Amino acid sequence: MYCNQPPEKPGNKKELLEKITNMARANSLWVTAYGTGCGSIELRPLGTSRFDMERFGIAMRPTPRQADVLIISGYLATKTLKRVIRVYEQIQDPKYIIALGSCTINGGMYFDSYNTLNVLDKYLPVDVYVMGCMPRPEAIIDGFSLLMQKIKDGRAHGWKHYKENLDYYRENQKKIITDWDLPDYNW
Ligand code: SF4
Repeated sequence: MYCNQPPEKPGNKKELLEKITNMARANSLWVTAYGTGCGSIELRPLGTSRFDMERFGIAMRPTPRQADVLIISGYLATKTLKRVIRVYEQIQDPKYIIALGSCTINGGMYFDSYNTLNVLDKYLPVDVYVMGCMPRPEAIIDGFSLLMQKIKDGRAHGWKHYKENLDYYRENQKKIITDWDLPDYNW
């Protein structure tokens, strides 16, 4: 699975610069305000004074073009997949995906449903999964911490994996989206 790739070690000046840049990226995560499933409910408390996600540099943005994180907040319906692909591909590189809840991992309580997806990273490159049904705000913050660490370590390159393996992703996506009318890629 893409999620478990080992960290890269900095060797030259270019890689050192990338490491410093990654530290800046990790401390300034802007999230596309877009919900797919029940887990969206648990995102709202993150903005309150109790959890205060902005102290970590995490902020919600109204458009994918100003964001670098996409949260798949629970089950992903087959009808929603096309919209999520469109949103993801409009986010500029580097970009990251956090998937919330059991439904994104193995289908959860909808594992045998005809209209939800079971294993999300067959369709989109997930950087961090957060377990639970539904994950509490503390668990989501923990997921963000894990993502920050992966970015700092140079391991959060799902966006590169997506580009390099676009044929694989497209093949899986087109098995679900029968009326495919998206452009080749929106970057
Ligand atoms: S994991 Fe639970 S809370 Fe999340 S989308 Fe699935 S059923 Fe809803």
